[in-house]
Amino acid sequence: PPEPVLPEVSAPGGAPAPLAGAALDERVEGLLRRMTLEEKAGQLAQYSQGVPTGPGTGRGDHEDMARTGAVGAFLNVVGARETNRLQRIAVEQSRLRIPLLFGFDVIHGHRTLFPVPLGMASSFDPALVEQAMRVAAEEAAADGVRWVFSPMVDIARDARWGRIVEGSGEDPYLGAAMARAYVRGYQGASLAEPTSVAASVKHFAAYGAAEAGRDYHAVDMSDVNLRQVYLRPYQAAVEAGAATVMTSFNTLNGVPATANPYLLTEILRKEWGFQGFVVSDWNAIQELVNHGTALDGAAAARQALTAGVEMDMEGNLYAPELPALVRAGKLSEAQVDEAVRRVLRVKFALGLFEKPYAEQTAVPATVSPEKRALARRVAEASMVLLKNEGPVLPLGPSVRKVALVGPLADSGVDMMGPWAGRGEAREHVTLRAALERRLKGGLVYAKGTDFLSRSTQGFEEAVRAAASADVVIAALGEEAWSMTGEAASRTSLGLPGNQEQLLAALAATGKPVVLVLFNGHPLTLQGAQAQARAIVEAWYPGIEAGPALANLLWGEVNFSARLPVSLPRSVGQVPLYYNALGTGRPAGAADLTRPPTGTSDKYISRYIDEQNTPLYPFGYGLSYTTFGFSPPTLSAKGLKALEVSRQGQAALQVKTQVRNTGPVAGTVVAQLYVRVRGASTAQPVRQLAGFERVRLAPGEAREVVFPLGFQELSFLNARSERVVEPGTLYEVWVGDSSDATAHVEFTME
Ligand code: BGC
Repeated sequence: PPEPVLPEVSAPGGAPAPLAGAALDERVEGLLRRMTLEEKAGQLAQYSQGVPTGPGTGRGDHEDMARTGAVGAFLNVVGARETNRLQRIAVEQSRLRIPLLFGFDVIHGHRTLFPVPLGMASSFDPALVEQAMRVAAEEAAADGVRWVFSPMVDIARDARWGRIVEGSGEDPYLGAAMARAYVRGYQGASLAEPTSVAASVKHFAAYGAAEAGRDYHAVDMSDVNLRQVYLRPYQAAVEAGAATVMTSFNTLNGVPATANPYLLTEILRKEWGFQGFVVSDWNAIQELVNHGTALDGAAAARQALTAGVEMDMEGNLYAPELPALVRAGKLSEAQVDEAVRRVLRVKFALGLFEKPYAEQTAVPATVSPEKRALARRVAEASMVLLKNEGPVLPLGPSVRKVALVGPLADSGVDMMGPWAGRGEAREHVTLRAALERRLKGGLVYAKGTDFLSRSTQGFEEAVRAAASADVVIAALGEEAWSMTGEAASRTSLGLPGNQEQLLAALAATGKPVVLVLFNGHPLTLQGAQAQARAIVEAWYPGIEAGPALANLLWGEVNFSARLPVSLPRSVGQVPLYYNALGTGRPAGAADLTRPPTGTSDKYISRYIDEQNTPLYPFGYGLSYTTFGFSPPTLSAKGLKALEVSRQGQAALQVKTQVRNTGPVAGTVVAQLYVRVRGASTAQPVRQLAGFERVRLAPGEAREVVFPLGFQELSFLNARSERVVEPGTLYEVWVGDSSDATAHVEFTME
């Protein structure tokens, strides 16, 4: 086997600046020395507003807890008035006056809702996402919420998993870029700024790989896969300074993630140098008993703390159990101290001791036009044009009458997605509202059907509307809160209920049908595709859903988004992702017209009844213009492994000319993919290693330069070491999807 070349400069890691330093340590130690065991355990406990307390519940009153120092953090406390009220009790009445930390599920906005994370990932625009999440931080902080349970960076390759909508999709490179963007947006230049909030990278780790896409289920995977694919976005977030990490519900290779020393101590703390604190997911410490690794709550608490979980979210175990465990000699006080230290460090870094309260006046009654404009921009950048036959889009002046049909055409609540923060449904502009504004009397609306309906009662009215119009827009998909998000996995991925039947009825009128999809799972669209002339994947676009869509449909803004997940042809292909390992067999296209009986194609890698390819690949998306890529060129013909490991950053540059070859201005997402051959471990058939949004006027060309360094060129060998190896060959493709064809190669000596 070739000799591996390990990096000389190890991957950037170490302590994120705001959570380290002598001055901070001194304050933490000073406080720690004065704390009783109960007060220490209290700092490690988090409780949720809304969960019953008092006699018979096993839980104390929240105000009493704040007063006695029996709680360190809350979640789901709504509004500045309420966070300030509880904070005042902690800061003015508790013995040590340690401020509380308020956490909240700020996932894609707080008051101003942006597109769901999968939508934002479709923008391939980390800078824009960072800007949006800065707004989310400001709004959360104005409510006294200085800690958000985001970003969710779980790589998700199983379209059945309901939470795929909460993350950035299937790719570690894009996932890492998005992870950094969220953290920077939330935490700003400094955590101490009153408008900054601590991020919580979740769910650590590999939660998205749950078996068969069933939420909470076991994950069993190789260390190489774990590190090369699943851990990359978490690591990127930690390197960007994420102040906290949340555990996941699943077991990983048999060990629950919430009591997993390999993940929490070996990797997170020792390898990555994480200085912040780890919070369990909701009740996840208690769930260790169900997992069967702990016999009771006390054992679960000991297991979790020992593995490296500093805060118990809603498990109600740390506060009652830790002091007793220490007194019984089952846990050392030093272990508890180390956990408290980490929690206090974050509270100090946030400036909570100096400024514990939210400025109530900072909370505006409505969402400002400026914020709406930003939300619209993000929504426009997040909607993917999948198909445009004719082309039927953009709609022009000849379109005078539009029939708008479907359960998602006028549902503000669904525009919010499965997590809605403090967004309000009535403020969300639906497609119907936006089209009414635009078309005045030219719009005819009929709901047609409901999400899960079997009744075709509404079809007739919808078909009549369609027949009377120039164009039909069908707004179909999944109900956000019930069909996507946590515990909302599906075994079928078609349009739910009889929506596809409705689509067919609309198409049968002969009028061109534009299908606008609002959904959280990547759907199987073979049936729908046959009926619709154009398809827009809108995900859940947030507060400016309707106006953003109208701008795109009429071509005032061009489509620029790209798929962050592969769209399967059928559920049986799942998990389906572009950067898979190959096989030893060619993957020929299946001839679906005959069974493979004894002919030479029988033994190729394929299904007998389905293609291997996705219906729409990762990185794909159409525009109203077209783009061309020149064959890529390299700054060097070959590289030396030793030098790459030394140089780190930009060992090689790949250049390509990208040109707008169509009629209107547009933005292309230039993408670079790499494959390593001849390595000691099999590597993905392609891996995204660079991307850039490039805006071009018609006919305009620009050179795009992709730097490739150790990060992009290295991979994991069988010992889980990140290496480059001499004697390998690199294939490189550039283009505007994972099907890119412009190609070049170089060698590594
Ligand atoms: C979810 C987390 C969330 C937490 C707090 C859990 O059920 O898995 O993603 O942050 O609840 O609401």
